[in-house]
Amino acid sequence: MFNLILFGPPGAGKGTQSEKLIEKYQLIHLSTGDILRSEIAEGTELGLKAKEVMDLGELVPDEVVIAMIKSKLEANASAKGFIFDGFPRTTAQAEALDALLEELGHPITIMLALEVSESELIKRLLNRGKNSGRPDDQDEAIIQNRINEYQNKTAPIKDYYSLQGKFRAIEGIGSIDDIFNRLCSQIDLIF
Ligand code: ADP
Repeated sequence: MFNLILFGPPGAGKGTQSEKLIEKYQLIHLSTGDILRSEIAEGTELGLKAKEVMDLGELVPDEVVIAMIKSKLEANASAKGFIFDGFPRTTAQAEALDALLEELGHPITIMLALEVSESELIKRLLNRGKNSGRPDDQDEAIIQNRINEYQNKTAPIKDYYSLQGKFRAIEGIGSIDDIFNRLCSQIDLIF
C-alpha cells in the first residue's frame, strides 16, 4: 500500500490536489472534513454535534475522527493505498493512525506538506466562501481561528513524521498543475 498524508493549513489546496492524485495513482481519498460534512448533510447526531464545533473553526474531538478513519480503513482493506487529507490533525490522531496502520501492516509511506503564506490562505478561503456554501469560509475571524488551531495543534505533527524520516515540504504557491507536478515528482521517487 502507498499511504500518503497530504498535509497543510486550511486553504493550502489539499482537497484540489487530492482529487488529481487519486486519479493518477488510484488511491482512496479519506478527507475527515468531507466525511464530517456528509454527516451534517445527512442530519446524523454526530453531524449535528460536529457542526457546532466546525462552525466555530475549532477541532472535532479526536475520538470522533479516529473512529471515522478506522471504519473507512476497514471498509477498504484491499485498496492500493490512501490519501489522508485533513487527518491527522493532532499528535493523538497521528499516534492512533500509526496504530491502525500497523494492524493492517501498511504504515504511512510519506507526508507531503503544502506550504502557503497566511495572507494567501486567508485570501483563498474568503474567495472559496463566496460559492462553497461553507459557513467556516465566510467569516475572517473563523478563518483566523482555524489557522490558529492549525498552528497550535496540527503543525507540531510535522516533527512527529520528521522523526520517522517521512516529512517533505512542498511549495504550495503557483498554478494547480505546477503544484501537482511537484507532488508527483516526490511520489514517483518511491511509488
Ligand atoms: P480546511 O482544511 O479547509 O479547514 P476541512 O474540510 O479539512 O477544511 O475541515 C473543516 C473542519 O472540520 C475543521 O475546521 C474541523 O472543525 C473539522 N475537522 C476536519 N478534520 C478534522 C480532524 N482530523 N480533527 C478534528 N477536526 C477536524
